[in-house]
Amino acid sequence: MFKSFIEEYTGNHLGLLLENEPLAKHTTFRVGGPARLFVVPNSKESLIQTLKLIKKEQLNYKVIGRGSNLLPSDQLFEGVIVKCDKGIDHIEISGTSVTVGAGVSTILLANRVSKHNLSGLEFISGVPGSVGGAIYMNAGAYNKEIKDVLVKVLVLDDEGELRWLTPTDLNFGYRTSVMQSQPNWTIIEAVLELEQGNSEEIADLMKMRKIRRIESQPTNMPSAGSTFRNPLPHYSWQLIEESGLRGVRIGGAEVSKKHCNFVVNVGDATAQDIYDLIQHVQTVVFERSGIKLHPEVEMFNW
Ligand SMILES: Cc1cc2nc3c(=O)[nH]c(=O)nc-3n(C[C@H](O)[C@H](O)[C@H](O)COP(=O)(O)OP(=O)(O)OC[C@H]3O[C@@H](n4cnc5c(N)ncnc54)[C@H](O)[C@@H]3O)c2cc1C
Repeated sequence: MFKSFIEEYTGNHLGLLLENEPLAKHTTFRVGGPARLFVVPNSKESLIQTLKLIKKEQLNYKVIGRGSNLLPSDQLFEGVIVKCDKGIDHIEISGTSVTVGAGVSTILLANRVSKHNLSGLEFISGVPGSVGGAIYMNAGAYNKEIKDVLVKVLVLDDEGELRWLTPTDLNFGYRTSVMQSQPNWTIIEAVLELEQGNSEEIADLMKMRKIRRIESQPTNMPSAGSTFRNPLPHYSWQLIEESGLRGVRIGGAEVSKKHCNFVVNVGDATAQDIYDLIQHVQTVVFERSGIKLHPEVEMFNW
């Protein structure tokens, strides 16, 4: 299975292929065991062909972006990781309409459109990740979410068919989308609608927000951003703080002293350390408040 996949993938020049590649190199937590195969398709067409090949060979797989919301286990992933990166990184701007590949960095995109006097992505200018990951998670900040600027999304479904989905089809919620219940669908590209703005004002707003993030979040340490969803009207950071968990450590994983809803890797954490700390926080917060915290971070290959 893997052998014929490798032969066809390389024979058809679909992109980079690595064997037993540590996922720790591809997650912002800097943890995760090896993937049996790790591929980075070199174009939109190659991505589609890669997924069809995976289906033909009936291989276990997962599509990822920049790994900024993922906690893979330390174990071997016996399948193919497909990373959307360079190759699926087209950005086409036409008036206020932007067509963008799933592999484009959201930070890069926010900066690029701002230079074209386009407003609407300032909120995501400090959110690491790819366009595909942002749609999958309905990433958001400052009371805005990616859904607010989406017109349509091109998805390869589990039958190998390409279809355009509307925001209604994608059924967005707080850090949720229909994609989370369709693990075999892949986001290929998206069309966004932005507004005319002023590049200097947009740049000033993004700069101000960047400063605010640096002041309030441990942006200099490996993490996956907010660890838990907010159980509104409560805030996770507050429940964690009130449970006396600020700064608590298991191995190399720590509840950030700077922002309690961030678990950070203080240098030598294993994925297991982070996983155990997440469970510990859930237990202690539940015992104190009766509220169950649900991870925003996605556990994978556990
Ligand atoms: C310092 C820091 C700050 C953060 N701040 C925020 C914040 O303010 N707001 C916020 O919402 N998030 C935040 N996050 C979390 C993270 O940035 C977002 O969830 C981001 O959108 C994830 O994108 P990604 O490309 O890294 O996805 P990944 O982590 O690679 O993947 C996440 C999920 O998306 C799926 N996926 C990725 N690409 C595709 C695709 N092309 N097709 C189908 N499925 C796909 C993966 O299979 C996986 O299930 C933060 C993270 C960090 C590290």
